[in-house]
Parts: sequence; structure tokens; C-alpha cells
Amino acid sequence: MPALQPARGTQDLLPEAARRHRRVSDTARETAALYGFAEIATPIFEFTEVFARPIGEHTDIVSKEMYTFTDRGGEEVTLRPENTAGVVRAVLSNGLTQSTPLKYFYSGPMFRYERPQKGRFRQFHQIGVELLGVATPQADIEVIALGQRILKELGIADRVVLELNTLGDPESRAAYRDALVGYFSGRRAELSEDSRRRLDANPLRILDSKDPEDIRINADAPRFEDFLNTQSSHFFADVRAGLDRIGIGYRINQRLVRGLDYYTHTVFEFVTTDLGAQGTVLAGGRYDGLVELMGGPAMPGVGWAAGTERLAMLTVEPPGAPRAVALVPIGEAAEARALILAEQLRDAGFTVDLGYSGNLQRRMRRADRIGARAAVLLGDDELARGAATLRDLDSGAQSEVALDALATHLAALR
Ligand code: ATP
Ligand code: MG
Repeated sequence: MPALQPARGTQDLLPEAARRHRRVSDTARETAALYGFAEIATPIFEFTEVFARPIGEHTDIVSKEMYTFTDRGGEEVTLRPENTAGVVRAVLSNGLTQSTPLKYFYSGPMFRYERPQKGRFRQFHQIGVELLGVATPQADIEVIALGQRILKELGIADRVVLELNTLGDPESRAAYRDALVGYFSGRRAELSEDSRRRLDANPLRILDSKDPEDIRINADAPRFEDFLNTQSSHFFADVRAGLDRIGIGYRINQRLVRGLDYYTHTVFEFVTTDLGAQGTVLAGGRYDGLVELMGGPAMPGVGWAAGTERLAMLTVEPPGAPRAVALVPIGEAAEARALILAEQLRDAGFTVDLGYSGNLQRRMRRADRIGARAAVLLGDDELARGAATLRDLDSGAQSEVALDALATHLAALR
């Protein structure tokens, strides 16, 4: 019988990978705290309606990527495909709309039924932030600065470029949408099948198509900047000026539209060429209409989400776990004593690996394999004298030390 396999698009995080992930989420959490963002955790599944309408029925996520099922009580629930809608739902459920601004950080697994490939999974992880209740460009600038600082802390700022665009306010967006529909309708026959479908449902998304023929047609499409009303152009100019002021470089990308329906004004992505086709590591924007759409008061918002797997792939080797002390009991009395000694050394803050079984040679091989810093050999005779043999596994030096001086000797090796 073949060994059991993980479900397609899911993966195990073995310790090395788990350490990389941990480094990404810890760095992000600590950096977010510097900006006053506090961690929030919402459920991994929600009623389907929490996602369906806010994200938009014509988006890829809602139309083909959600893990939706009816539970045993007959409720329709969905594994969260992203966390913005869940955070807004939590703000509304907990009656937090009066205490703005609200600043949240989150980290955790998301689920999308996608075709798995490098950097694209069905269960993946995101870190992200949401800033609710601030209508001015400072909020956009701060969340982008926070994203940039996290990338810098992870040592990958040099490998990404910030792309920036605006989708304007709803009025500008509606005018632009009409212009796009006019333009693309004239060339309908040349569009890819996907884009023909988008033409009725979500025409802005055509701009973001990867199809070569669509890309050719997109080159002559009307430009959003010509349809921005005064208020929207000012907003975008202020965002750019703020980024300039704090030295954050960016590239305007007129084709940058986000997949979700609820974005307004600023949209941005940090992209890299180092991950093949899955080059977007961190993406977000302003979503002023979302809270109201979800049944709350009019409340602006801006945020981003980043793929933990993609960030982890770009990070340099994370610092290893602290090196252990291997305890190697030899003989029955020593076995019993080793359990106690291991607890005492852990009380003193040492990482201790207890050899559970096998002869001396086998236990020393394990000490070697886990990269232990030192081995403490406990023989029955030595124990009777209240001592043990301490071996420095880097230098090979070895000496007998009194048990009550062991912690001091080990500390000297750290
Ligand atoms: P893409 O264009 O790559 O499908 P998206 O627009 O669907 O991305 P968002 O919803 O903006 O992605 O999610 C934010 C980030 O989460 C992405 O930039 C990416 O880093 C990560 N991400 C999204 N989907 C996946 C996935 N299936 N596997 C791994 N990471 C993902
Ligand atoms: Mg996607």
C-alpha cells in the first residue's frame, strides 16, 4: 500500500521550514507592534456570506477558489480564503466601530482551491495588517511603510520592487469602467475567453490578464489617470508625496488592479522576479466601501496581506535553534538520575536532549546528529562520586566535573 500522502496543494512544515515560517511571522508581528498594530485572530472558517459578497461573486476567489461546505448542522461555511473580511466581521460583531482608528495584525493559514505550483498552494499562510477608520493618505503611507520595514527586517527589501497605482473613488472608477467596457467591446473577438467573461462582470481585471493576446490589447487601453476626478488625483499625489518624504521608492504600474471588488484609491504590490510566475509577495490597498457593504457604518480602511511561504522562500537561513546539551546515561542508576538532571538543567535555561535508549556509541551518534554543543556522560561509578564526564563536542576536550558545578561549566561553553 502506498504511504499516505498530504492532500494536493497542502504541505507539511518540517522543523527547518517551520523555523523559516516562524521567523517571518515573528518579525512581522514585532515590526507591526512598532507601528501600534496589535494582533487579532479570527476563526479559520466563517459563514460563507462573510466572504462571498464582500470579496465579490465575479472574483476568482469566490467564483472558483473557495472551500465551501455544509456542516452537520446545515450551515454553509467556508474556510477563509483571506482575512480582511473576517477582521471586518469581527469589528462589527464585537461592536468596535466607535473606537477608531483600529490597527490589527494577523498571521495564519488561508485556503484557496487553486492549481498548485511553486509558491501557490491550497493551504497557505498570510501575514497581514488592517487600519480602519482613517480616510487620509497618512494611513496608506503608514501601512506601506510597515510592509517595507518588514521586508527590510527579513533581509529581502533589495529583492522586491513596490508597484503603486490608484483605482480612484467610486465615481472615477465608474467612469473608467465605462471607458474600458467601450474599448474592450470593440475588440471582444480578440480577447481570451476568460477576459470575454470578465468584460461583463469585472472589466478592470482584464488589465491584469497574463494572456499574451490580452496583454497586447491592454497596451492601448484607456488609462486610469485620464478618468480620475480632482479629489482622487489629489489623494494619489499625497500618497506619493508621503512615500517620497520617507524615502520609499516605487514604480507606478497603471495595469495594477487588485482581484477583489472592494478596493478604492491606493493599490500596491511588492513584487520580485526571484520566484518565477508567483512574484507578488505582499499586496494590498484601500477599501473604503467594505465596512458599509458588510452592514457597518461608513468607515474607511486600508491594509495588505503577504504570503508567508513566498516570504520564507526569499529569506536567508534563519538562525538555528539553540544547541543542545546531550545527556548520556550509562547504566540503570544513571538512567533514573538523568531524568532529574535534565529537568534541573532546563530549569537553568539549557536545551537538553536526553538519550532515551541504545548503547553509548549510538547515543553519541545522536548527539552528533542534532549538533549538540556538549555531552554529559553519566556513569554509575561517577554518579556515586557526585560527578559526570563533560565532553566539549566542538573541541573534543573532556573532563570530570562535579554535578553541582555542571551548570557553571556548561554556561562557559555557550
Ligand atoms: P495571485 O495573483 O498570486 O493569485 P492574489 O491576488 O490572489 O495573488 P492576494 O489575495 O492579494 O493574492 O493575497 C496576498 C498574497 O498572498 C499574495 O501576494 C501571495 O503572496 C499570497 N498568496 C495568495 N494566494 C496564494 C496561494 N494560493 N499560495 C501561496 N500564497 C498565496
Ligand atoms: Mg489568486
